[in-house]
Amino acid sequence: MDDCIFCKIVKREAPASIVYESDTVIAFKSIQPVSETHILIVPKDHVYSVTDFSDANQFFSLLTAAQSIIADLQLEKGYKLVFNGGKYQAVPHAHWHLLGGTLEDKKDVLNNI
Ligand code: AMP
Ligand code: ZN
Repeated sequence: MDDCIFCKIVKREAPASIVYESDTVIAFKSIQPVSETHILIVPKDHVYSVTDFSDANQFFSLLTAAQSIIADLQLEKGYKLVFNGGKYQAVPHAHWHLLGGTLEDKKDVLNNI
């Protein structure tokens, strides 16, 4: 989709701090992190929302990415994976939030969502 910011990141037409990439998935740091670690795990194909996933392989590739990033960043002791939808979703390209660590005010992010 031409005017989609996440499609632009996939095509390297917009900058991002990329932490993981495969043939079907890209993951990068959120520009407005709500926790010490805030990664967005994104299918490269433009899918609007989690309710539009229909391909098991596509979803499994997101899970594989999450497992890899959790291991790389040593988040096993505490993390959350969140899909926002409807009024809670700002970017119209499906993405899985991987959250870990602390909030800026040092509250434990895992107790605040
Ligand atoms: P949501 O409300 O679930 O759609 O969340 C959108 C997420 O995308 C938020 O974490 C934003 O900080 C993040 N975001 C928006 N634009 C960019 C961008 N250009 N690069 C990285 N993260 C972004
Ligand atoms: Zn898109």
